[in-house]
Amino acid sequence: MLKLDNINLFYGEIQALWNLSMEIKEGQIAALLGANAAGKSSTINAISGLEKISGGKITFLGKEIHKMDPHEIVEEGIIQVPEGRKLFNYMSIQENLELGAYSKRAKKDFKKNLRMVFDLFPILEERKNQFAGEMSGGQQQMCAIARGLMSSPKLLIIDELSLGLAPILVQKLLKALVDIKNSGITILLVEQNVKQSLAISDEACVLENGRLALSGKADELLNNPHLKKAYLGM
Ligand code: ATP
Repeated sequence: MLKLDNINLFYGEIQALWNLSMEIKEGQIAALLGANAAGKSSTINAISGLEKISGGKITFLGKEIHKMDPHEIVEEGIIQVPEGRKLFNYMSIQENLELGAYSKRAKKDFKKNLRMVFDLFPILEERKNQFAGEMSGGQQQMCAIARGLMSSPKLLIIDELSLGLAPILVQKLLKALVDIKNSGITILLVEQNVKQSLAISDEACVLENGRLALSGKADELLNNPHLKKAYLGM
Protein backbone atom coordinates (compact mmCIF):
# COMPACT_ATOMS: atom_id res chain seq x y z
CA MET A 1 0.00 0.00 0.00
CA LEU A 2 2.77 2.42 1.01
CA LYS A 3 6.30 2.05 -0.26
CA LEU A 4 9.38 4.04 0.71
CA ASP A 5 12.10 3.47 -1.81
CA ASN A 6 15.64 4.52 -0.86
CA ILE A 7 14.65 7.82 0.70
CA ASN A 8 17.10 10.37 2.08
CA LEU A 9 16.14 13.32 4.22
CA PHE A 10 18.28 16.26 5.31
CA TYR A 11 17.82 19.13 7.77
CA GLY A 12 20.32 21.56 6.31
CA GLU A 13 23.58 19.64 6.41
CA ILE A 14 22.33 17.03 8.87
CA GLN A 15 21.20 13.80 7.24
CA ALA A 16 18.34 12.27 9.25
CA LEU A 17 17.35 9.37 6.92
CA TRP A 18 19.78 7.27 4.91
CA ASN A 19 18.58 5.21 1.92
CA LEU A 20 15.54 4.09 3.84
CA SER A 21 13.26 1.54 2.20
CA MET A 22 10.19 0.01 3.79
CA GLU A 23 6.72 -1.17 2.88
CA ILE A 24 3.37 -1.15 4.65
CA LYS A 25 0.76 -3.66 3.59
CA GLU A 26 -2.91 -2.82 3.32
CA GLY A 27 -5.11 -3.96 6.23
CA GLN A 28 -2.26 -4.31 8.70
CA ILE A 29 -0.93 -2.54 11.75
CA ALA A 30 2.73 -1.72 11.13
CA ALA A 31 4.94 -0.45 13.95
CA LEU A 32 7.79 1.98 13.38
CA LEU A 33 10.14 1.61 16.29
CA GLY A 34 13.39 3.11 17.45
CA ALA A 35 15.07 5.09 20.20
CA ASN A 36 15.11 8.88 20.52
CA ALA A 37 16.43 10.58 17.39
CA ALA A 38 16.39 7.33 15.37
CA GLY A 39 14.41 9.07 12.61
CA LYS A 40 10.83 7.99 13.31
CA SER A 41 9.31 11.50 13.12
CA SER A 42 11.38 12.32 10.06
CA THR A 43 10.02 9.19 8.34
CA ILE A 44 6.38 9.95 9.01
CA ASN A 45 6.82 13.63 8.20
CA ALA A 46 8.29 12.57 4.86
CA ILE A 47 5.25 10.35 4.24
CA SER A 48 2.82 13.16 5.15
CA GLY A 49 4.73 15.67 3.01
CA LEU A 50 5.65 17.86 5.99
CA GLU A 51 9.34 17.32 5.16
CA LYS A 52 10.63 16.93 1.61
CA ILE A 53 12.92 14.05 0.74
CA SER A 54 16.01 14.66 -1.35
CA GLY A 55 16.35 11.26 -2.92
CA GLY A 56 14.26 8.17 -3.55
CA LYS A 57 10.50 8.00 -3.84
CA ILE A 58 7.36 7.36 -1.83
CA THR A 59 4.39 5.65 -3.46
CA PHE A 60 0.93 5.21 -1.99
CA LEU A 61 -1.54 2.90 -3.74
CA GLY A 62 0.64 3.04 -6.82
CA LYS A 63 0.85 6.86 -6.95
CA GLU A 64 4.02 8.85 -6.27
CA ILE A 65 3.26 11.20 -3.39
CA HIS A 66 6.64 12.63 -2.33
CA LYS A 67 6.28 15.75 -4.47
CA MET A 68 2.73 16.45 -3.31
CA ASP A 69 1.77 19.10 -0.73
CA PRO A 70 0.56 17.86 2.66
CA HIS A 71 -3.10 18.73 1.92
CA GLU A 72 -2.97 16.71 -1.30
CA ILE A 73 -1.56 13.74 0.62
CA VAL A 74 -4.48 14.08 3.07
CA GLU A 75 -6.86 13.90 0.09
CA GLU A 76 -5.11 10.67 -0.98
CA GLY A 77 -6.14 9.22 2.41
CA ILE A 78 -3.01 9.48 4.59
CA ILE A 79 -3.81 11.07 7.94
CA GLN A 80 -1.33 11.74 10.73
CA VAL A 81 -2.35 11.93 14.39
CA PRO A 82 0.38 14.18 15.79
CA GLU A 83 2.49 13.55 18.86
CA GLY A 84 1.21 15.55 21.81
CA ARG A 85 -2.34 15.31 20.42
CA LYS A 86 -2.57 19.01 19.34
CA LEU A 87 -6.27 19.44 20.05
CA PHE A 88 -7.99 22.81 20.23
CA ASN A 89 -8.33 23.03 24.01
CA TYR A 90 -10.97 25.76 24.04
CA MET A 91 -13.22 23.98 21.59
CA SER A 92 -15.58 21.15 22.46
CA ILE A 93 -14.89 17.51 21.69
CA GLN A 94 -17.57 17.64 18.99
CA GLU A 95 -16.01 20.75 17.40
CA ASN A 96 -12.56 19.13 17.42
CA LEU A 97 -14.04 16.10 15.67
CA GLU A 98 -15.79 18.30 13.10
CA LEU A 99 -12.43 19.89 12.26
CA GLY A 100 -11.11 16.46 11.35
CA ALA A 101 -13.68 16.19 8.57
CA TYR A 102 -12.48 19.06 6.39
CA SER A 103 -11.39 17.10 3.32
CA LYS A 104 -13.83 16.57 0.48
CA ARG A 105 -13.91 12.83 1.01
CA ALA A 106 -14.46 13.20 4.75
CA LYS A 107 -17.38 15.63 4.50
CA LYS A 108 -19.35 13.05 2.55
CA ASP A 109 -18.89 10.45 5.30
CA PHE A 110 -19.34 12.81 8.26
CA LYS A 111 -22.34 11.13 9.92
CA LYS A 112 -21.08 7.60 9.43
CA ASN A 113 -17.63 8.49 10.78
CA LEU A 114 -19.03 10.33 13.80
CA ARG A 115 -21.12 7.26 14.71
CA MET A 116 -18.04 5.05 14.29
CA VAL A 117 -15.82 7.14 16.58
CA PHE A 118 -18.52 7.44 19.25
CA ASP A 119 -19.00 3.65 19.16
CA LEU A 120 -15.25 3.18 19.45
CA PHE A 121 -14.84 5.69 22.29
CA PRO A 122 -18.23 6.13 24.07
CA ILE A 123 -16.73 8.62 26.55
CA LEU A 124 -16.32 11.10 23.68
CA GLU A 125 -20.05 11.01 23.01
CA GLU A 126 -20.87 11.41 26.72
CA ARG A 127 -18.57 14.44 26.91
CA LYS A 128 -18.99 15.82 23.42
CA ASN A 129 -19.88 19.32 24.63
CA GLN A 130 -16.98 19.58 27.04
CA PHE A 131 -13.82 21.54 26.21
CA ALA A 132 -11.09 19.22 24.91
CA GLY A 133 -8.64 20.88 27.32
CA GLU A 134 -10.70 19.65 30.29
CA MET A 135 -10.34 15.99 29.36
CA SER A 136 -7.75 13.62 30.84
CA GLY A 137 -4.62 12.75 28.83
CA GLY A 138 -6.07 9.40 27.76
CA GLN A 139 -9.36 10.95 26.68
CA GLN A 140 -7.47 13.62 24.72
CA GLN A 141 -5.55 10.88 22.91
CA MET A 142 -8.89 9.17 22.12
CA CYS A 143 -10.15 12.49 20.75
CA ALA A 144 -7.01 12.96 18.65
CA ILE A 145 -7.36 9.46 17.14
CA ALA A 146 -11.09 10.04 16.61
CA ARG A 147 -10.36 13.35 14.85
CA GLY A 148 -8.00 11.45 12.55
CA LEU A 149 -10.71 8.89 11.83
CA MET A 150 -13.16 11.69 10.97
CA SER A 151 -10.92 12.37 7.95
CA SER A 152 -11.84 8.98 6.39
CA PRO A 153 -8.24 7.74 6.32
CA LYS A 154 -7.01 4.82 4.29
CA LEU A 155 -3.75 4.94 6.25
CA LEU A 156 -3.77 6.35 9.78
CA ILE A 157 -0.35 7.31 11.17
CA ILE A 158 -0.23 7.59 14.95
CA ASP A 159 2.79 9.32 16.49
CA GLU A 160 3.75 8.31 20.06
CA LEU A 161 0.37 6.97 21.11
CA SER A 162 1.52 6.09 24.63
CA LEU A 163 3.32 9.35 25.43
CA GLY A 164 2.62 10.34 29.03
CA LEU A 165 -0.22 7.85 29.51
CA ALA A 166 -0.71 5.24 32.25
CA PRO A 167 -0.11 1.63 31.07
CA ILE A 168 -3.75 0.65 31.53
CA LEU A 169 -4.89 3.45 29.23
CA VAL A 170 -2.25 2.51 26.69
CA GLN A 171 -3.66 -1.03 26.68
CA LYS A 172 -7.15 0.33 26.05
CA LEU A 173 -5.97 2.53 23.19
CA LEU A 174 -3.97 -0.27 21.59
CA LYS A 175 -7.07 -2.46 21.73
CA ALA A 176 -9.00 0.28 19.95
CA LEU A 177 -6.34 0.26 17.21
CA VAL A 178 -7.10 -3.40 16.56
CA ASP A 179 -10.81 -2.48 16.19
CA ILE A 180 -9.85 0.30 13.78
CA LYS A 181 -7.73 -2.12 11.74
CA ASN A 182 -10.62 -4.60 11.67
CA SER A 183 -12.83 -1.86 10.22
CA GLY A 184 -10.47 -1.81 7.20
CA ILE A 185 -8.11 1.08 8.02
CA THR A 186 -4.36 0.45 7.77
CA ILE A 187 -2.31 1.80 10.69
CA LEU A 188 1.29 2.94 11.04
CA LEU A 189 2.07 3.16 14.73
CA VAL A 190 5.15 5.09 15.81
CA GLU A 191 6.25 4.10 19.26
CA GLN A 192 9.08 3.89 21.75
CA ASN A 193 7.08 1.33 23.70
CA VAL A 194 8.41 -1.68 21.79
CA LYS A 195 6.87 -4.66 23.56
CA GLN A 196 3.28 -3.41 23.72
CA SER A 197 3.24 -2.13 20.17
CA LEU A 198 4.69 -5.34 18.73
CA ALA A 199 1.98 -7.28 20.57
CA ILE A 200 -0.77 -5.71 18.42
CA SER A 201 1.21 -5.19 15.20
CA ASP A 202 1.45 -7.46 12.17
CA GLU A 203 4.82 -6.17 10.99
CA ALA A 204 7.42 -3.74 12.23
CA CYS A 205 10.45 -1.73 11.16
CA VAL A 206 13.16 -0.69 13.60
CA LEU A 207 15.21 2.42 12.85
CA GLU A 208 18.66 3.16 14.19
CA ASN A 209 20.54 6.37 13.32
CA GLY A 210 18.23 7.08 10.40
CA ARG A 211 18.70 3.66 8.85
CA LEU A 212 16.57 0.54 8.76
CA ALA A 213 18.07 -1.82 11.35
CA LEU A 214 15.47 -4.60 11.39
CA SER A 215 12.13 -5.37 9.80
CA GLY A 216 9.76 -8.29 9.63
CA LYS A 217 6.77 -9.94 11.24
CA ALA A 218 6.07 -8.52 14.70
CA ASP A 219 6.01 -11.89 16.47
CA GLU A 220 9.35 -12.85 14.95
CA LEU A 221 10.92 -9.53 15.91
CA LEU A 222 9.82 -10.05 19.51
CA ASN A 223 12.20 -13.01 19.59
CA ASN A 224 15.04 -11.28 17.75
CA PRO A 225 18.16 -11.26 19.99
CA HIS A 226 19.30 -7.76 18.90
CA LEU A 227 15.88 -6.26 19.54
CA LYS A 228 15.57 -8.03 22.87
CA LYS A 229 18.93 -6.72 24.00
CA ALA A 230 18.68 -3.18 22.66
CA TYR A 231 15.02 -2.41 23.37
CA LEU A 232 13.64 -4.87 25.85
CA GLY A 233 16.58 -4.98 28.26
CA MET A 234 16.75 -8.78 28.06
P1 ATP B 1 12.01 11.21 18.92
O1 ATP B 1 11.41 9.96 19.38
O2 ATP B 1 12.97 11.82 19.91
O3 ATP B 1 11.05 12.19 18.33
P2 ATP B 1 12.72 10.32 16.27
O4 ATP B 1 13.07 8.87 16.13
O5 ATP B 1 11.37 10.74 15.87
O6 ATP B 1 13.03 10.79 17.72
P3 ATP B 1 13.65 12.40 14.51
O7 ATP B 1 12.89 13.44 15.25
O8 ATP B 1 13.18 12.00 13.17
O9 ATP B 1 13.82 11.10 15.41
O10 ATP B 1 15.16 12.89 14.41
C1 ATP B 1 16.17 12.26 13.61
C2 ATP B 1 17.41 13.13 13.58
O11 ATP B 1 17.16 14.34 12.90
C3 ATP B 1 17.91 13.52 14.98
O12 ATP B 1 19.31 13.49 14.98
C4 ATP B 1 17.40 14.94 15.14
O13 ATP B 1 18.24 15.67 15.99
C5 ATP B 1 17.42 15.46 13.72
N1 ATP B 1 16.36 16.46 13.50
C6 ATP B 1 15.04 16.27 13.61
N2 ATP B 1 14.35 17.39 13.30
C7 ATP B 1 15.29 18.32 12.99
C8 ATP B 1 15.24 19.70 12.58
N3 ATP B 1 14.07 20.32 12.41
N4 ATP B 1 16.40 20.33 12.35
C9 ATP B 1 17.60 19.70 12.51
N5 ATP B 1 17.72 18.41 12.89
C10 ATP B 1 16.59 17.72 13.12
